Amino acid sequence: MKYCIANWKMNLTISESILFLEELQKKNLQNTKTKIILCPSFTSLNDINNILFSNNIELGAQNVHQELKGAFTGEISINMLKEIECKWVILGHSERRQHFNEEDVIINDKLNAVIQNGLNPILCIGENQLQRDKDETFSVLKSQLNTALYNINIKNINLVIAYEPIWAIGTGVNATCKQIDEVINWISEFLLQEFSIKVPILYGGSVTSSNCSSMLDLEKVSGFLIGTSSLDVNEFYSIYSIINER
Ligand code: PEP
Repeated sequence: MKYCIANWKMNLTISESILFLEELQKKNLQNTKTKIILCPSFTSLNDINNILFSNNIELGAQNVHQELKGAFTGEISINMLKEIECKWVILGHSERRQHFNEEDVIINDKLNAVIQNGLNPILCIGENQLQRDKDETFSVLKSQLNTALYNINIKNINLVIAYEPIWAIGTGVNATCKQIDEVINWISEFLLQEFSIKVPILYGGSVTSSNCSSMLDLEKVSGFLIGTSSLDVNEFYSIYSIINER
């Protein structure tokens, strides 16, 4: 299975999200080898769900709280997401780590809650420019994975990992195929050795319809987590179509 995941971040109102999905569902989405996951804002999720009819598209949230309910003003719970048929949730996105102090231990709590309560996690990991320059990429990823996956029963769940180097997110500078290949192979080996799991690993960071084709030649790349290019339905569909051609 390949994945084409849209992270709309804090973009697209309800009406814009509906328009996007209406346009997307007019296109040919018959190929079941690639799963589309749309991660709109919380406010759009329910309306999107109400007009969703394509079996190939599933819904994801961009965040969730680790507690199941309680006095957490402004937060959204796992059950609230499940009630509107949201199946996936992005955890550990670098913007949440950077701007909302989400550390690996919190991501570990969220991952635990999500897995135990039936949502599927898309776990984001990645190094920043300074860490890459200092040759710390693998130690950063190791620490992120070890802490996030600590004490978690990850067998038999739909965990998806997204390798998203921070320097490539929203910058227009994507990682090269050589860099992606090196890191995704490393993650795959590490997960097998340390956790005995084999899970889909995606790349994210300035993916476009013009640069994604060669990335798909890489054996271990199971698709993309897409920010900017997912806001335009034609561009997003082009990427989906390129994934399908493989
Ligand atoms: C992201 O935010 O997950 C992302 C990959 O963004 P962009 O595609 O804009 O780099």
